[in-house]
Amino acid sequence: METAGGKIIQGGVATGTLRVFRRAEVPDSRDAGLTPDQEWARFEAACAQAGAQLDELCGRVREELGEESAAIFEIHRMMLEDEDYLDAVRDAVRSGETAGRAALAAGERFAAAFAAMEDAYMRARAGDVRDVSRRVAGILDGLEGGGTLSGEPVILAAEDLTPSELMQLDRSRLLGVITRRGSVNSHAAILARTMNLPALTGVDFRDGWDGRMAVLDGFGGRICVDPDAGLLAAMEEKRRVWLEEADLLQELKGKPNITLDGRGIEVCANISGPGDVDLVLRSDAQGVGLFRSEFLFLEAEDFPTEEEQFAAYRRVAEAMAGKRTVIRTLDIGADKRADYFRLEKEENPALGLRAIRLCLTRREIFKTQLRAILRAGAFGNVAVLLPMIISLREVREARELLEECRAELREEGAAMGTPELGVMVETPAAVMIADELAGEVDFLSLGTNDLTQYTLAVDRQNPGLERFWDPRHPAVLRMIRHTAEAGRRHGCRVCICGDLAADRELTAAFLRMGVDELSVPPSAVLPLRRWIRGLDLRGEGEAAF
Ligand code: PEP
Ligand code: MG
Repeated sequence: METAGGKIIQGGVATGTLRVFRRAEVPDSRDAGLTPDQEWARFEAACAQAGAQLDELCGRVREELGEESAAIFEIHRMMLEDEDYLDAVRDAVRSGETAGRAALAAGERFAAAFAAMEDAYMRARAGDVRDVSRRVAGILDGLEGGGTLSGEPVILAAEDLTPSELMQLDRSRLLGVITRRGSVNSHAAILARTMNLPALTGVDFRDGWDGRMAVLDGFGGRICVDPDAGLLAAMEEKRRVWLEEADLLQELKGKPNITLDGRGIEVCANISGPGDVDLVLRSDAQGVGLFRSEFLFLEAEDFPTEEEQFAAYRRVAEAMAGKRTVIRTLDIGADKRADYFRLEKEENPALGLRAIRLCLTRREIFKTQLRAILRAGAFGNVAVLLPMIISLREVREARELLEECRAELREEGAAMGTPELGVMVETPAAVMIADELAGEVDFLSLGTNDLTQYTLAVDRQNPGLERFWDPRHPAVLRMIRHTAEAGRRHGCRVCICGDLAADRELTAAFLRMGVDELSVPPSAVLPLRRWIRGLDLRGEGEAAF
């Protein structure tokens, strides 16, 4: 058994023969004996042919995968008309190069320039430039482009794969894809995700794996060749769950979360970084209800810069395409600690300098984050959520800092959004002043994990206290009801984003309380949505708590 890891492009599980993809090489030299003018005329004719191919491909992709995927090939078409690219080819042809080699060399040059860019999105465009120039060179030199698949379905291993090559392969014979080079942001990666094709990149596979049995675990980011029986069985089970989930998605996609008696509630997903967004999109959640931004800090060696944070928030906001992304500001402290913060040791860290307290104490850290969030707001529907609030004063101080950041950015001419502001209700204090808070902000989000901890005075970190840990305790449930009522009185949206949101035994009670949104782990979204659509609240009285 041999294994290799890679970056996840698309989750899923595939089992089957591995086939190494080989691209036909453009000949090194071609002694055609043509003049530069003749070579240029050939290049122009090839471009016209490539344009026609792309039009046809666009039409097919639009039909099979939708408008967004088709747009990828419209961009390719535009690249064919790019003046800088055409000039580069013309210069090379004039200096004696054949049209095919000139097209390839210009493509490589532009691809290298894209690959060296700082922005991950622009870096990923290198693959598109290569794709277009290979298409033209392929036409000029009579190459077949990529490979085709015949016979049994396979897991394809390629050095890299262009969007055209991926679309040219017979989907019914393709179980999954691994590439050695490539980017999770490339258009080929986007297409793989749209096709729900298990895919990894950055995989160091061996040519000797060609023709051998393999399992591709797109969720775990691993490929294994010659798997043993135990692994095969485990993967088969994972695959079964995945396919079931896919069926559920098919059944629920785009449908509202309405009970049989017509009560509606939104179901969103909790994430800890941009890497989780794919899961959210796959669950067809209505938004990101909680982005635990502190994980960006916990995974780093030092404070993430404004640019780094902005890139992460923007990625999520863009991927959510207009659906709300609630970014919770830094909730460091208590059990979440990073050395570089140099936090003092505390006797009771859960009651210590954590979350909003830390942010209002170390304002430069907070402002960097707020600036990054405001800027990401220009690229999607972003909201700010303040953790561990116990007073109105904290909310007002945070709002002042937000306004300060907004003024600075305006001065700098930076693009920004106008994010809604919400607070987490996760302390009994916040519950008791829920009316005042609801009058002050756009939404309240109940963090039932901490709310349970602080209401019951049971340390959530202490495994010895498990039998005392009871999130369904009437005291906690009444706090949720109290908060929901306060929200309703003030026309302020109320969400639950703690673990209790996924507790199906309580969904009916939350609906009756008038909770507007439940935000749960991505894997819980679809089952919860199906559950809601099967509920009927007629006839049953209020829950007794
Ligand atoms: C909560 O406390 O319920 C919550 C959502 O926040 P965290 O679990 O990250 O503390
Ligand atoms: Mg919390």
